[in-house]
Amino acid sequence: MNPPPADYDVVIMGGALSGAAAGMMLKRGHPDLRVLIVERTAEFDRKVGESTSEVAGCFLTRVLHQGAHLSARQYQKHGLRMWFCKTPQDSVDDLTEIGPNFQSRLPTFQLDRALFDEHLLKEACDFGCGLMRPATVKTITLSEDDSPHTLEITPKEGGTRAVTTRWLIDASGKAAVLAKKLGVHHSAEDEHPTSSIWCRFRNVNGLDSFKSREMFPNLMKGVHGLRTTSTNHLMGRGWWCWIIPLSDGSYSAGVTWDRRYFTLPEGPTLLARLQAHLMAHPVGRLMFEHAVPDAGDTFYYKNLAYRSERITGNRWVMVGDACGFMDPLYSHGIDFIAHTVHAAVGLVKKNLAGECTREITDYLNMAYPRCWRIWFDALYKDKYAYIGDAELMNAAFLLDLGAYFIGPVRLVYSNPDYEWTRLPYDGPAGTFFGRFMAFYNRRLVHLANERVRKGMHGRRNHGHLWTPRQSFSPDNSALRLMWDGIKVWLKAEITTKLAPELSARA
Ligand SMILES: Cc1cc2nc3c(=O)[nH]c(=O)nc-3n(C[C@H](O)[C@H](O)[C@H](O)COP(=O)(O)OP(=O)(O)OC[C@H]3O[C@@H](n4cnc5c(N)ncnc54)[C@H](O)[C@@H]3O)c2cc1C
Repeated sequence: MNPPPADYDVVIMGGALSGAAAGMMLKRGHPDLRVLIVERTAEFDRKVGESTSEVAGCFLTRVLHQGAHLSARQYQKHGLRMWFCKTPQDSVDDLTEIGPNFQSRLPTFQLDRALFDEHLLKEACDFGCGLMRPATVKTITLSEDDSPHTLEITPKEGGTRAVTTRWLIDASGKAAVLAKKLGVHHSAEDEHPTSSIWCRFRNVNGLDSFKSREMFPNLMKGVHGLRTTSTNHLMGRGWWCWIIPLSDGSYSAGVTWDRRYFTLPEGPTLLARLQAHLMAHPVGRLMFEHAVPDAGDTFYYKNLAYRSERITGNRWVMVGDACGFMDPLYSHGIDFIAHTVHAAVGLVKKNLAGECTREITDYLNMAYPRCWRIWFDALYKDKYAYIGDAELMNAAFLLDLGAYFIGPVRLVYSNPDYEWTRLPYDGPAGTFFGRFMAFYNRRLVHLANERVRKGMHGRRNHGHLWTPRQSFSPDNSALRLMWDGIKVWLKAEITTKLAPELSARA
């Protein structure tokens, strides 16, 4: 029997990266599908989610095929670089730096998200998606049988439109409309109480400028690649700042902190607090002393981490940040967009083609919370305890990066048709790696606390340039990165254990 008629085959709630990507992928090869994207804003403002990692780069270039736009209109990213200091007065020449020596091998980008999301949404419309904008999905009545879902949509100009659809894709981002409506939205505030403030600045002095290199000659040494187009992080105990260059000449800068380990000093405004914090780090001062903030572009989020208990049901599915989010430290947000959008599009297409999709639904509802937990415990749980200690962070960086390249990055390049439909850290190998990562993460947290107690936290935050011995590539050479990381970690175990107690030194 034919299903009851509906206005659309698919309505996508939210037209930013996740929603536009889903729309485009649905219409490609299936021009007959009736897809409507509903986007609340008249135009996108500048978002976070600007720095991409390698899984995201693979998705953007090999699944969405955006290489031409990305090469011409956005910056190529050249790795993650971290800067450690002992005091705000330190010279940039004395700081410990961790980051790549050469330019990156795989495509990764610094995205002006307003520009990119607008471009992607236009492509989705060019492929034939309908667009209601600015318009908000206000009321959702989900069907529990074979009849269509009903949505009430309010366009900005006024009035309400009732729309029926076979499928609903929730791409509403942090608003997480469906998860909240269904009561399956969970904040992770208790185990990850993080906050962020950010802004975009102009007139920033880049790290490769003549001025910077004349003031600090060490910036001409050691690193062969460009530091400007890296994602530069300033690191301290309990906090880190990102500095991301954007193709319009501005820089995105923000601070994220874990409220258990650090309190951002008060100030008259959010912007003043962010600026004061940037100026308290030698690299921040070098870059932002004469920087001019973009007016009206300062944002604040409290409690960044959350997740949905399940992400799909009777002809509805969540994608991207509508499913959940963990932490921006390693720029993994778009990795999750990639996997969830791919999996959702596959599910919807199969279902609309009349195939039984029960197995996929069961898999996604089992795999998402599991993957969130494994990834979170492996990479972020209590991590802010040690991110300000260069030696401990070097161990984590090598191990985390090695595991990322052996696992998620290698797999999406080598077996894309299968891997994109799965969630990361799937299967026995993923579980094994996840557990190992959670183990060394816990050890590093313990070492950081011991180091604070013994007065030796940050002991190597001066005078080191730690560049991994090879450029990162998605093959087993990443095992060598992990091996290097294990050596740094074991050395940190020994030096921390052997260090005298503070009382013995006094
Ligand atoms: C501080 C911070 C820094 C980050 N940095 C990075 C990074 O460097 N790299 C990275 O990969 N990720 C990063 N992320 C994560 C990244 O920002 C997100 O993963 C990404 O922006 C999510 O995209 P999305 O399309 O799922 O949601 P969004 O970009 O939030 O888009 C959701 C869209 O839905 C629309 N919408 C909402 N409700 C409705 C409704 N009812 N009706 C119609 N439309 C609606 C909104 O207007 C919006 O356009 C960061 C996150 C934070 C908090």
